[in-house]
Amino acid sequence: MRPKIKKVDTNKRKKMRKNAQKILERQTAMFLDHPKECCVCSTPFERTKKTVQSWQVVTRDQRVRLTCPTCWTKVEEALETLG
Ligand SMILES: [Zn+2]
Repeated sequence: MRPKIKKVDTNKRKKMRKNAQKILERQTAMFLDHPKECCVCSTPFERTKKTVQSWQVVTRDQRVRLTCPTCWTKVEEALETLG
């Protein structure tokens, strides 16, 4: 008698890339309801194509923070210093 070998169907791993896409869409939508100034230097935000691309929107703890390019550069430098 040969032992019967059952073939186990391998579960396909769920891809998380679709979720990443959804998060991106959500962040874009948040631009419609975000602070109207830089969270660091309080520079008023004027919604243009340029500012939408250059200003940084960071969501943390479901809070939306808006950072102007100048302050964002400082933030990035600070992060690099921290390693
Ligand atoms: Zn700023």
